[in-house]
Amino acid sequence: MAKQYTDEELKKKLTPEQYHILREKGTEQPFTGKFLNHHENGMYTCAVCGAELFSSDTKFESGSGWPSFYEVAKSDAARLIEDKSGGMHRVEVQCANCGSHLGHVFNDAPDQPTGMRFCINSAALGFDPKDKAKK
Ligand code: FE
Repeated sequence: MAKQYTDEELKKKLTPEQYHILREKGTEQPFTGKFLNHHENGMYTCAVCGAELFSSDTKFESGSGWPSFYEVAKSDAARLIEDKSGGMHRVEVQCANCGSHLGHVFNDAPDQPTGMRFCINSAALGFDPKDKAKK
């Protein structure tokens, strides 16, 4: 079971930008995230609790400016929540383990195996290279 943190611990653990995105549902500026053009093999994890979220095998170039994945690493790793904020109707993606905000998911990737585009903030993610990742 991944560790749970209090709000105070998170303010120390995360950068202000990460805290804003993960805990206040912020969005990083497009084309700025550290994982946008990251192509190593491994597992992307939750920056808060370390839960395994997205495999590099499912990462693709969407042109959106945010890291994009067509599938979650495990079906129960993410929680999908209807989001009507900002005058839009979207589906929010949260870490199922700790409830942190990760990004949104859209069904606009017809050239991908699932047709889905998980549009995820780099700042919400950590990364475990494949040789260290659990199988
Ligand atoms: Fe988490």
